[in-house]
Amino acid sequence: LHKPSQFHIVMVPSPGIGHLIPLLQFAKRLVSLPGLSVTVAIPSDAPPTKPQKALFTNLPSTIQPLFLPLVSFHDLPKHTKIETIIALSVTRSLPFLRHLFQSLIGKTHLAALIVDHFSTDAFDVAIEFNVPRYLFFPPSAMSLSFAFQLPSLDQIVAGEFREHPELIPIPGCIPIHGKDLLEPAQDREDDAYKLLLHNCKRYRLADAVFVNSFPELEPEAMKALLVEEAGKPPVYPVGPLVRNDCSENGKRAECLKWLDEQPNGSVLFVSFGSGGTLSSAQTNELALGLEMSEQRFLWVVRKPNDEAANATFFGDEKEKENEAWRFLPEGFMERTKNRGMVVSSWAPQVEVLRHESTGGFLSHCGWNSTLEGVVNGVPLIAWPLYAEQRMNAHMVTEDIKVGLRPKKKEGSGIVEKEEIAEVVKSLMEGEEGKRIREKMKNLKNAAERGAGEDGYSSKAVCEMGMKWKKTMMMISSSQEG
Ligand code: UDP
Repeated sequence: LHKPSQFHIVMVPSPGIGHLIPLLQFAKRLVSLPGLSVTVAIPSDAPPTKPQKALFTNLPSTIQPLFLPLVSFHDLPKHTKIETIIALSVTRSLPFLRHLFQSLIGKTHLAALIVDHFSTDAFDVAIEFNVPRYLFFPPSAMSLSFAFQLPSLDQIVAGEFREHPELIPIPGCIPIHGKDLLEPAQDREDDAYKLLLHNCKRYRLADAVFVNSFPELEPEAMKALLVEEAGKPPVYPVGPLVRNDCSENGKRAECLKWLDEQPNGSVLFVSFGSGGTLSSAQTNELALGLEMSEQRFLWVVRKPNDEAANATFFGDEKEKENEAWRFLPEGFMERTKNRGMVVSSWAPQVEVLRHESTGGFLSHCGWNSTLEGVVNGVPLIAWPLYAEQRMNAHMVTEDIKVGLRPKKKEGSGIVEKEEIAEVVKSLMEGEEGKRIREKMKNLKNAAERGAGEDGYSSKAVCEMGMKWKKTMMMISSSQEG
């Protein structure tokens, strides 16, 4: 492990690259404090995927990844929800975490344990070792406001949220239909909901909460979160924490070279995050819609899946079988070759969004993707699939209004090609597109200030650093005395 240092922090991300990315960015901020080092203890039931491994290259030496021994889920029923697996990965890794704490205590001053939103069972280990504990919340302020509210909603609302006749109130947010709440809240009998509620209740055990958002993006939700309340930990905005480096092996991807040749702001980037998949029928319809729109596009195509919208959440290693053209309508590649490019499974998203040819982003509205759109000033087409993405889409289109949302056809649940073409055209060359592009630009400027040297995460980290230093001095003077 590390050489003895003044402060040490253990971070525990739950499985999922979208959880790991912002946590690592936060770790980078933390090690800017002199004498501080971080161990990122990663629970999982499978070895890391290629994109996950890429995240650990070029980390400062003060951030040490530690892959905990793999846990097993052979005992779980076949259709166990992904959120249950994520939360249980952490719970089943607690013995390894305890072991890590034992090995660190005495060698270094263990200043804090920082866990993410699925990982609050790890607080128990911090409590045993008398170490301060913090929650790092990767999604939006809206999602955090909901999470604080859930224990009381659970008491008040009878039956399923999705069947509730009224909109669900969330402090500081535009009320939302129960069916648009996050996935595990859609079935209150399922373990995924029970674990969600369990984690949300335990957020109050944190000494403080860091949320990956910023007040200019979600002013009212943030105000609501900052209201002091007995038993509620203080909340610090630390966003936007997004990656700024993602070139793999130092090679420039073909799609970036293709973007170099396209006019400024002319390309729609289409991507559904690390886990998002469409059905075969929807993949077909999206292809035809993009073609009909006559706009330029760069599309990260995944193998369709007719059963789940998150089929690649834990990665998909069968790259050879996943070449994009296999899944697209006949003749599509040929017909669109002059204005479209497709890539298979994965693209260097941050670099694509930063590229000046990119003018729009059709996204599943994962929170990292949403923030990456915001920091690059790229307006959105919101196409949520799972997790809390419908909440993000609701916020992006109904509240801050920096995106358009295509409608599904009632009955089939498919977004049809005509609708896709219309929304794409409207974003890329319509009046509405112009208005939301302007708004996005303002947010981009605010995001730059928030992410800068004097921004929110730097401020929060400085404040925490002073607190930890004070505690450490008190401990060492009591030991000397
Ligand atoms: N990502 C990427 N290339 C891809 C797909 C995803 O680099 O082809 C990155 C993306 O930039 C983002 C993360 O993976 O940082 C996905 O996180 P998000 O919260 O948007 O969605 P999730 O994958 O958790 O659903």
